[in-house]
Amino acid sequence: MTMPRSSRRNSRTCAVCSQTLYGFDDDMELGIVDLPSAHPLSGFSGQAMCGPCFESWDHRESFGSLVVDRVREQAPKTTSAEIYNDEDCLVLLSVAVEALSWNPVQLRNKEEYQVIVWLRPTGTDLTIPLTQWPGEKPETRDNKRLRASEKAALNSVWPTLLSVFPNAREVLSRVDVDKVIADHQNWLARGD
Ligand SMILES: [Zn+2]
Repeated sequence: MTMPRSSRRNSRTCAVCSQTLYGFDDDMELGIVDLPSAHPLSGFSGQAMCGPCFESWDHRESFGSLVVDRVREQAPKTTSAEIYNDEDCLVLLSVAVEALSWNPVQLRNKEEYQVIVWLRPTGTDLTIPLTQWPGEKPETRDNKRLRASEKAALNSVWPTLLSVFPNAREVLSRVDVDKVIADHQNWLARGD
């Protein structure tokens, strides 16, 4: 059978078993890690993996945690503020802004917040609008059913998250939103 050009172009191969992947639900897009090239896991940064290989990958948890470490390092350059971090997860509050002007840089708070839960054992994140927090425990990520590894990781952190952040008010109380926006405004103005 001849594959249509578009799907051939979009196909990738699994970083473990080398089978061709076509971006079906079960395929996994690995996150980015900042590692020296000599590090044994550096070659996996941004690679694709089939679902079964990802689930049984020996380095899934250590790689996932490195992905989350990088997200944590990058957060100060964004309008996402860290509200919780431990060995199982990182939680950010994302503050939506819009630019009123670029010269000088002036940002406005859109009053739209999202709780982003990064799971270290998988290096993947779940986004929950603050207006729905905490709501039911999520069962999907990007409209896809959670993988077994994601479900397990979420199950182990969810009770902690509910006790630390019982409601939306508690989430917001952890963040100086005006400062997050002002810092980002300054960062953009410096242009680095
Ligand atoms: Zn595979």
